[in-house]
Amino acid sequence: MTFMMKFVKIVAISIECLALEESGDEMIYLDYSATTPVHPEVLTTFTKVNNELFANPDSLHNFGGKVATLLQKAKEVTAQLLKVQPQELIFTSGATEANNLALRGIAFANRQRGNHIITSVIEHPSVYDTLKQLEQHFGFEVTYLPVDHTGKVSVVDVQAAIRPTTILVSIMAINNEVGSIQPIAEIGKILSEYPKIYFHVDAVQAVGKVAVDIKEWRIDLLTCSAHKMFGLKGSGLLFKRIGVNLMPLQTGGSQEDGYRAGTPNVAANVAFAKTLRLALEHLPQKQAMVQELNTYVRTLLEQKVVGVVCNSSVTCSPYILNISIPPLRPEVIVHGLDAKGIYLSTRSACSSKEAKASRVLTAMHLRDEVASSGIRVSLSHETTKEQLNIFVDELANVVEQMRKVVK
Ligand code: PMP
Repeated sequence: MTFMMKFVKIVAISIECLALEESGDEMIYLDYSATTPVHPEVLTTFTKVNNELFANPDSLHNFGGKVATLLQKAKEVTAQLLKVQPQELIFTSGATEANNLALRGIAFANRQRGNHIITSVIEHPSVYDTLKQLEQHFGFEVTYLPVDHTGKVSVVDVQAAIRPTTILVSIMAINNEVGSIQPIAEIGKILSEYPKIYFHVDAVQAVGKVAVDIKEWRIDLLTCSAHKMFGLKGSGLLFKRIGVNLMPLQTGGSQEDGYRAGTPNVAANVAFAKTLRLALEHLPQKQAMVQELNTYVRTLLEQKVVGVVCNSSVTCSPYILNISIPPLRPEVIVHGLDAKGIYLSTRSACSSKEAKASRVLTAMHLRDEVASSGIRVSLSHETTKEQLNIFVDELANVVEQMRKVVK
């Protein structure tokens, strides 16, 4: 089940020969929600396809035909794993592209029916910023639903926000900063009474980690990404139910049924199918392991780190634990741990370089001092209790040092 990669701290990188200078020290990686290492079997698949089946699947020759068959097979395997139809899948360069395609594609194709979109205030920037752009430059009206103190959207609020002009509801399955699990099945049930409103779900932090049922939850569009589940970066997927009216954003070819022009990255797409298959293997066991690790690290933190606040409630996804140690600056803590070879994030990797308080933590009504000091610890089934012991001890040391300086 686990593949136990040896994670060593890298001290220097040269681009010319891609040689890595290793320190010899093992690192402790607790940033799995930013990205994961690639499963060795996924890399083998990727390399094999690139080496042996590199033809363009749209070429007329036999070699191209073989690659086209392989690509179709990758779609069939992925579709079977997601319990959908192969023609409902569009391979993309990742979840950011899939979210952009879903939102702008629905908005542009359906604007004659209405200009109102419902989302939440805690969406990933690839949803949030895309909707802001639709609002600011294209005349759409967007309702940003609030969340409660656990980071959860209310189903009642979704229903209350619906207008005759609503064309789309976009709510993420699991928040990437705190791990709050959204009531997707319940929202899907409500929306089934509004057949003209499409339902998009950004399921990047859910697919391959928890059970997701696209059809049962009445989802029309769903986004996933390979590199959050031990797959490749630059590889993702948009599920689009048959009959959903979507305008392609990329024109210039008939690839992906015309929804995404451009020569497909066949090796990455085949690797995606492999990634998903491996991620779903022994899923309940892996989930139970991560749940145990989450409970373990929460207890350790409370015992050993004075002043720690857990921003993720116990109902959140076990893969993500957001903490604050106010008033200590989170980036200083992250750098302090970095020096010890322990890697984690202040927030989502896409916005970790922003200095202001987290939009997500602020939306949860946490006081300013807490909302601006969030640190995200993200786990996987590859994480060990030994790593968590070291992490908590080192965190306690860093915090003690920082408090001495503050005094
Ligand atoms: N949505 C969510 C919830 C995410 O966590 C991420 C990755 N941080 C993305 C979208 C974007 O994914 P990608 O890196 O594949 O573009």
